[in-house]
Amino acid sequence: MMDIPNLFGSMVFNDKVMRERLPKDVYKALKRTIAEQKHLNLDVANVVASAMKEWAIEKGATHFTHWFQPMTGVTAEKHDSFISPTGDDHIIMEFSGKELVKGEPDASSFPSGGIRSTFEARGYTAWDPTSYAFVKDNTLYIPTAFCSYSGEALDKKTPLLRSMEVINREAKRILKLFGNDNVKRVMATVGPEQEYFLIDKELYEKRPDLIYCSRTLFGARPPKGQELEDHYFASIKPRVSAFMKELDEELWKLGVLAKTKHNEVAPAQHEIAPIFSTVNIAADHNQLVMELMKKIANKHNLVCLLHEKPFAGVNGSGKHNNWSISTDTGINLLEPGETPYENAQFLLFLAAVIKAVDEYQDLLRISVASAGNDHRLGANEAPPAIISIFLGEELTEILESIENDTCYNQKEKCQMEIGATVLPHFPKDTTDRNRTSPFAFTGNKFEFRMLGSSSSISDPNVILNTIVAESLSQFADRLEAASDFKSELTAIIKETIKEHKRIIFNGNNYSEEWVKESEKRGLLNLKSTVEAIPYLIAEKNIKLFTKHNIFSEAEIFARYHIMLEEYIKVLNIEALTLLDMTKRGIIPSVISYLKDLTEVVVNKKSISKDLNCKLEEALIESISDSTACLYKNIEKLDNAILEAKNQNNLLDTAKYYREVVYIAMQELRSVIDNLEIKVGKKYWAYPTYGELLYSV
Ligand code: ADP
Ligand code: MG
Repeated sequence: MMDIPNLFGSMVFNDKVMRERLPKDVYKALKRTIAEQKHLNLDVANVVASAMKEWAIEKGATHFTHWFQPMTGVTAEKHDSFISPTGDDHIIMEFSGKELVKGEPDASSFPSGGIRSTFEARGYTAWDPTSYAFVKDNTLYIPTAFCSYSGEALDKKTPLLRSMEVINREAKRILKLFGNDNVKRVMATVGPEQEYFLIDKELYEKRPDLIYCSRTLFGARPPKGQELEDHYFASIKPRVSAFMKELDEELWKLGVLAKTKHNEVAPAQHEIAPIFSTVNIAADHNQLVMELMKKIANKHNLVCLLHEKPFAGVNGSGKHNNWSISTDTGINLLEPGETPYENAQFLLFLAAVIKAVDEYQDLLRISVASAGNDHRLGANEAPPAIISIFLGEELTEILESIENDTCYNQKEKCQMEIGATVLPHFPKDTTDRNRTSPFAFTGNKFEFRMLGSSSSISDPNVILNTIVAESLSQFADRLEAASDFKSELTAIIKETIKEHKRIIFNGNNYSEEWVKESEKRGLLNLKSTVEAIPYLIAEKNIKLFTKHNIFSEAEIFARYHIMLEEYIKVLNIEALTLLDMTKRGIIPSVISYLKDLTEVVVNKKSISKDLNCKLEEALIESISDSTACLYKNIEKLDNAILEAKNQNNLLDTAKYYREVVYIAMQELRSVIDNLEIKVGKKYWAYPTYGELLYSV
C-alpha cells in the first residue's frame, strides 16, 4: 500500500520543511515576509537558499529554475545547474540568495505587446514566496513573477498578486466596520475543475491539425457521438484509469490537492478537480495539472487535448472556476451564516459581487475570451456569451423582499430588517442547480463557468478580485462616512439590488428567450473574442485598473495588443494547416479513389458495354461535384489569407480573420466532411472522428 500522507507534498519545500530546516529567526523572518508580502532581505535569502539547495539535492535536484507565466498562458523555465568551479578542477554545489530572489532571463522572445523595446531585452523574475518551491524532474522550481526591466508586468502572476492585495485591503475595511478587527488577511480562494480529452497517440500523430492547432479542423460526424449519454460518470477504462492514478500520485507529490476524477459527457472526455486553495496557489497548481496531464498521457501512449473544442459535434472542454473569499481566521465570507449579524455581512459581500458582475460584464467576458473558447460559449454546451448570475429562487426571493420591504415568503408589507432578521436557510443545492448559468452561486461560493480548458485561470481571477474589491471599496467609503452604520448598510444593499438586479437570471441560459430578454435588460452579448477585446480599453476599465494599481495604462494597452495578436496568429495557423492538409492529404485521397472508380467503369465497359455501372457513375459524378466545390473553396481561403495583410490595424485584421478567414475555413470544412463520407476508408488520408474519439 502506498503511504499517501507521506507522499503528499514530499517534493515541496513547504512550511513543515522550512520549520525543520531553517534557523528559527530565519523561519520567522520568512513567514513574516510571506504574510506581509514584503521583500526578503538578502541575508535571510542566503540562508533560505542554502537550506533549499541542500533539501533539493537530497530530492535529486541538480538544477534550479525560476518558473514563470509569460503572456503565452503557459509556463516558462530556464534551468541552471548548481555547479560552481572552485578553481582546482573541482566544483561545489552552490545556490545564493540572490539567485533565489531574482533572475534575469532574456525577455525578448516573449509577448510584451510593445512594452519592451528590442534594445531593452532584459526582463527579470522575482520570487513569489507565497507559492512554495518544489522539485520536479531533478530541478528545483522557484515560482516567480516576470516583469520588464522598468517594472511592467509581462506575465499572468504579477497582476494576480496585485489583485489579491486589493481584495485583501478592501475586504478588511468592510470587516473592520463590522467589528472584525482580528482578521489579518482576506484571501480569494479558488478550486478549478479541469476538463480534457484523451486520445491514442498513434492516431494523434496522423492529424497535423491536432499537432499544430490542438483541434481537428475537419471530420465528419461518426454514427455515434454523445447522444446516448453513456460516457458521463461511466466506469473508467483501464488505460485511462492507469493514467489518472499516475497523475494523482505525481500531483500529490507536488502538494496539489487532486481530489475528484470522472468521465465527462463527450466520448474520450474526462475531468479532474482539486480541493480549493488560495488563488495564486490554485493558478500555479492548475498550470502543473495541465503540464503533468500532457506529460503523463504521453507515457501511456495517449495524448491529452486541452483545447476548448478539439472535435465539432460533441462537447468541448471548459474549466469551472469556483471562487470565494475567506479570512485567515477561517471564515468564508460568502457563507450566509446562522445569525442575523453574519447574514448582514454576507448580504453586503453578496451585493458587492452582484454590483461588480453587472458593472464589469465586459471584463469578465474578456477574461475568458480566446479563439478556442469562441467555439464553446453560446453553443448550448457551455454558458452563453451573456454574463448573468444565478442565485437560486430562494436567495432571489430574499433579495426581492429586501428591495420591496415585504416579508420573505409573504406578500404583505413589513420590514426585513438587515442585521436583525435571521435569514432562512437556503439549501446548498448541489443536485438541481442550474448548469446553464455562467456565474452561479452554489451555497458558499460562486462558480464561474465560462473559462476555457486551456487557459491560465489568472485572468478571470484578476478580474473577479479587482471588480469585487472595487464594489467593496465604494461600500466602505460610504459606511465609513455614515453616521448610522445600520441604516447606511440597509440603504446600500437595497440600492444595489434595485440597480443591478437585471444581472440576476435563474432560468435556462441556453434558451432563445434569454437572448431576447437579456437584450431588453441591456446586458452585453459579446459573441466572439474580437467583439469583446475592444472593451478592455474602455475608459471605465482603464480607470478601474489604474485606481487599484492592477495595470498601468501601458500594461492594459500591451495586453490589448497581445490578445489581438494571439487571436490573429491562432486563426492564421489554423487556416494554413487546413489548406496544407487539404492540398496534400485530402486531394490525393479523393483523386486516387476517383482513379480507381473510373478505371472500374472503363474496365467493365471493355468487357461489355451492357454491364451496369450505375453505382460507380453516380459516385464519380457526386464526388466530382464535390471536388469542384473543393477547388472553389480552396481558392477562396487562399485569397482570404493573402488579403489579410491589407488590413489597416490589428483590430481590423482580427475582425477580418473572424468575418472572412474563419468563414472560409468553415465552408471548406463542410465540403471536406461531405467528401469524407463518400470516399473509401482505405483512401482517406486521416483518422476519422470515430477512430479518434473511440481510440482508447
Ligand atoms: P461540482 O458539483 O461543480 O463538481 P464541487 O462541489 O465538487 O462542484 O466543488 C467544485 C470545486 O469547488 C472544488 O474544487 C472545491 O474544492 C471548490 N470549492 C469548495 N469550496 C470552495 C471555496 N470556499 N472557495 C473556492 N472553491 C471552493
Ligand atoms: Mg462545476
